[in-house]
Amino acid sequence: MDHDLNQKRRRILQGSLAMATGLGGLTQNTFAQQGLAKPGGYDLLITGARVIDPSQNLDKIVDIAIRNGRVVDLKPDLPRDLAAQQIDARGRVLTPGLVDLHAHTYPQGSAIGLPADELAQFTATTTFVSAGDAGGNNFSAFRHFFQAQTRSRMYAFVHISSIGLAGFPVGEMKNMDYANVDLAARTLDQNQDIALGIKVRESLDVVGDNGIEPLKRARLAAERSGVKGARVMCHIGNAPGDLGDLLNLLRPGDILTHVYSGAGNNTVQNGKVIAAALEAKKRGVLIDVGHGGGSFDFTVAEPALQQGLTPDTISSDLHAYSGNSPSIPFLPQVMSKFLTLGFSLSQVIAMATNRPGEIIARTPLLGTLKIGASADIAIFDLVDKPVEWLDTRGNKRPGSVSLVPVQTIRAGIPFGRPFPSPFSFS
Ligand SMILES: [Zn+2]
Repeated sequence: MDHDLNQKRRRILQGSLAMATGLGGLTQNTFAQQGLAKPGGYDLLITGARVIDPSQNLDKIVDIAIRNGRVVDLKPDLPRDLAAQQIDARGRVLTPGLVDLHAHTYPQGSAIGLPADELAQFTATTTFVSAGDAGGNNFSAFRHFFQAQTRSRMYAFVHISSIGLAGFPVGEMKNMDYANVDLAARTLDQNQDIALGIKVRESLDVVGDNGIEPLKRARLAAERSGVKGARVMCHIGNAPGDLGDLLNLLRPGDILTHVYSGAGNNTVQNGKVIAAALEAKKRGVLIDVGHGGGSFDFTVAEPALQQGLTPDTISSDLHAYSGNSPSIPFLPQVMSKFLTLGFSLSQVIAMATNRPGEIIARTPLLGTLKIGASADIAIFDLVDKPVEWLDTRGNKRPGSVSLVPVQTIRAGIPFGRPFPSPFSFS
């Protein structure tokens, strides 16, 4: 195309854009500066919120300033005129963006996965761990087609089953030929920047007659990968055989998820936490909630908490099925249930921000708002009004306060307004 024609076409395009948006008076220069700070200024300034960051024992009203996607200042009354864009968060609670250690964020590749970015408005979550959606045969597509292109931060556990959760609802460990130790180990090794370990599901509906052999293979794959600190994440439900035998296979740093499940043969039997569960916690097995659509029972959680089986992390186990279930396991709701169970606001926030951030251990300062941290931020209304919480077995408990997401920001860029220009992200 010749040069003049090109220029003419560009002028027409610019003119129609300006008219269409009603911004005819703005110069190109103004467009170019939307959302970008002058040197030493702030790209985004969030003012007036009650900022709660358990990683630095912070709970007070301060402004938070962001430049180049990072937190650069946290003080009351920061200068407004340095800010290219602002969010007024007076009267609201601001925390690090939530970190969900157990979710399912592999749409199209796993039968239950959801698109992570679409969940931000409901979950205030900026970091998701895809808990075994992909195995050795389909992890590469997770990495290249989703993890790399999603604004939410994504990590994963590699499923010991080579097909991950693509076969759901058919139990992936009913056929042990899928449990290829070397393939899982190699996949973990090759993706250790985003893969945290090996996932296995150990409940009767998943393993059939195969008992705890899937867990043995998951552990072997984690060890054989050669990846330092590789974890096993083990799902429990209605356990095959003695739950104690299963728990005894978990090593310090491994993660036990669905700890408060009431699916039968649980951590609490006849009102008492089984000894092997308390021993597991004592030797450093991490206790994870994994609420899901069938894995959180108040009548298990209450005695478990009283007898010392407390969680390290609160996670949602959000997926296409659990997300449609009546107990709606969006992470802020699950956290609110733990407020009702007697934990403080700071404790529940820690269990869904810096604590899982430390367990992920791939990104410095993940789950914190320390100076230099990626500006992954959640803004909530803390709603003080009676609410009835439902578990996954139809039990109800009265609550008095809920965390309701208002806005979520990932690396300094909100999901929704204000939009920066250029809209680019790392
Ligand atoms: Zn799950």
